[in-house]
Amino acid sequence: MPDPDGPTATTDPDAVDDLPTVSCSRCDDEWALDYELEELTVGNQAVEAFALDHFQHTGHFPDDVSPWVADCRRCPEGVERLDEAGARRWAATHARHTRHRVTVDHADLDEPTVVERD
Ligand SMILES: [Zn+2]
Ligand SMILES: [Zn+2]
Repeated sequence: MPDPDGPTATTDPDAVDDLPTVSCSRCDDEWALDYELEELTVGNQAVEAFALDHFQHTGHFPDDVSPWVADCRRCPEGVERLDEAGARRWAATHARHTRHRVTVDHADLDEPTVVERD
Protein backbone atom coordinates (compact mmCIF):
# COMPACT_ATOMS: atom_id res chain seq x y z
CA MET A 1 0.00 0.00 0.00
CA PRO A 2 1.60 3.28 -1.07
CA ASP A 3 2.13 6.00 1.46
CA PRO A 4 1.23 9.39 -0.09
CA ASP A 5 2.31 11.36 2.95
CA GLY A 6 6.05 11.31 3.19
CA PRO A 7 8.06 13.43 0.73
CA THR A 8 10.76 10.82 0.64
CA ALA A 9 11.68 10.54 -3.03
CA THR A 10 13.25 13.95 -3.52
CA THR A 11 16.68 12.61 -4.35
CA ASP A 12 15.66 9.63 -6.42
CA PRO A 13 18.07 9.68 -9.37
CA ASP A 14 15.61 7.77 -11.51
CA ALA A 15 12.95 10.46 -11.16
CA VAL A 16 13.79 12.22 -14.39
CA ASP A 17 10.54 11.67 -16.19
CA ASP A 18 10.57 15.27 -17.32
CA LEU A 19 13.51 14.69 -19.61
CA PRO A 20 13.96 17.93 -21.52
CA THR A 21 13.39 17.76 -25.23
CA VAL A 22 14.37 20.10 -28.01
CA SER A 23 12.60 20.35 -31.31
CA CYS A 24 13.62 21.92 -34.59
CA SER A 25 11.00 22.88 -37.14
CA ARG A 26 13.63 23.29 -39.84
CA CYS A 27 14.75 19.70 -39.37
CA ASP A 28 11.21 18.59 -38.53
CA ASP A 29 12.67 16.53 -35.71
CA GLU A 30 12.74 16.31 -31.95
CA TRP A 31 15.36 15.08 -29.53
CA ALA A 32 15.43 14.04 -25.89
CA LEU A 33 18.47 15.39 -24.12
CA ASP A 34 19.36 12.18 -22.32
CA TYR A 35 22.83 12.13 -23.85
CA GLU A 36 23.56 15.76 -22.99
CA LEU A 37 22.23 15.34 -19.46
CA GLU A 38 24.41 12.32 -18.95
CA GLU A 39 27.47 14.20 -20.14
CA LEU A 40 26.77 17.48 -18.38
CA THR A 41 24.21 16.72 -15.66
CA VAL A 42 22.93 20.30 -15.69
CA GLY A 43 19.62 21.10 -17.36
CA ASN A 44 20.24 24.49 -18.87
CA GLN A 45 23.71 23.61 -20.00
CA ALA A 46 22.33 20.50 -21.66
CA VAL A 47 19.97 22.59 -23.79
CA GLU A 48 22.76 25.03 -24.57
CA ALA A 49 25.18 22.27 -25.46
CA PHE A 50 22.62 20.67 -27.72
CA ALA A 51 21.87 23.98 -29.41
CA LEU A 52 25.55 24.63 -30.04
CA ASP A 53 26.05 21.14 -31.43
CA HIS A 54 23.00 21.55 -33.62
CA PHE A 55 24.28 24.86 -34.94
CA GLN A 56 27.71 23.44 -35.60
CA HIS A 57 26.32 20.56 -37.64
CA THR A 58 23.34 22.16 -39.35
CA GLY A 59 24.11 25.88 -39.40
CA HIS A 60 21.00 26.88 -37.46
CA PHE A 61 19.70 26.78 -33.90
CA PRO A 62 16.77 24.60 -32.86
CA ASP A 63 13.40 26.01 -31.82
CA ASP A 64 13.05 28.03 -28.62
CA VAL A 65 16.68 29.06 -28.74
CA SER A 66 17.19 32.75 -29.42
CA PRO A 67 20.78 33.47 -30.31
CA TRP A 68 22.50 36.81 -30.11
CA VAL A 69 23.19 37.83 -33.67
CA ALA A 70 26.07 40.09 -34.58
CA ASP A 71 25.76 41.23 -38.16
CA CYS A 72 28.06 43.50 -40.10
CA ARG A 73 26.38 46.23 -42.15
CA ARG A 74 29.33 46.56 -44.49
CA CYS A 75 30.38 43.03 -45.30
CA PRO A 76 28.91 39.53 -45.16
CA GLU A 77 30.56 38.71 -41.85
CA GLY A 78 28.48 37.86 -38.81
CA VAL A 79 28.07 35.37 -35.99
CA GLU A 80 25.33 33.86 -33.92
CA ARG A 81 26.11 33.17 -30.27
CA LEU A 82 24.09 31.93 -27.34
CA ASP A 83 25.82 34.29 -24.95
CA GLU A 84 25.48 38.03 -25.25
CA ALA A 85 29.07 38.63 -24.27
CA GLY A 86 30.32 36.45 -27.09
CA ALA A 87 28.25 38.27 -29.71
CA ARG A 88 29.26 41.68 -28.38
CA ARG A 89 32.91 40.68 -28.24
CA TRP A 90 32.79 39.62 -31.87
CA ALA A 91 31.05 42.85 -32.85
CA ALA A 92 33.58 45.00 -31.00
CA THR A 93 36.51 43.08 -32.46
CA HIS A 94 35.16 43.24 -35.99
CA ALA A 95 34.47 46.95 -35.69
CA ARG A 96 37.91 47.53 -34.24
CA HIS A 97 39.75 45.77 -37.03
CA THR A 98 37.62 46.75 -39.99
CA ARG A 99 36.01 50.01 -38.90
CA HIS A 100 32.76 48.45 -40.06
CA ARG A 101 29.50 49.18 -38.31
CA VAL A 102 28.06 46.05 -36.68
CA THR A 103 24.61 45.48 -35.22
CA VAL A 104 23.96 43.15 -32.29
CA ASP A 105 20.43 41.85 -32.10
CA HIS A 106 18.38 39.47 -29.97
CA ALA A 107 14.73 38.53 -29.75
CA ASP A 108 14.47 40.30 -26.38
CA LEU A 109 15.77 43.60 -27.71
CA ASP A 110 13.42 46.27 -29.01
CA GLU A 111 15.96 47.27 -31.58
CA PRO A 112 19.49 46.16 -32.39
CA THR A 113 22.50 47.76 -30.74
CA VAL A 114 24.98 49.39 -33.08
CA VAL A 115 28.65 48.77 -32.42
CA GLU A 116 31.24 51.04 -33.96
CA ARG A 117 34.89 51.74 -33.37
CA ASP A 118 35.37 54.72 -31.12
ZN1 LIG B 1 17.58 21.84 -37.14
ZN1 LIG C 1 32.44 43.89 -41.73
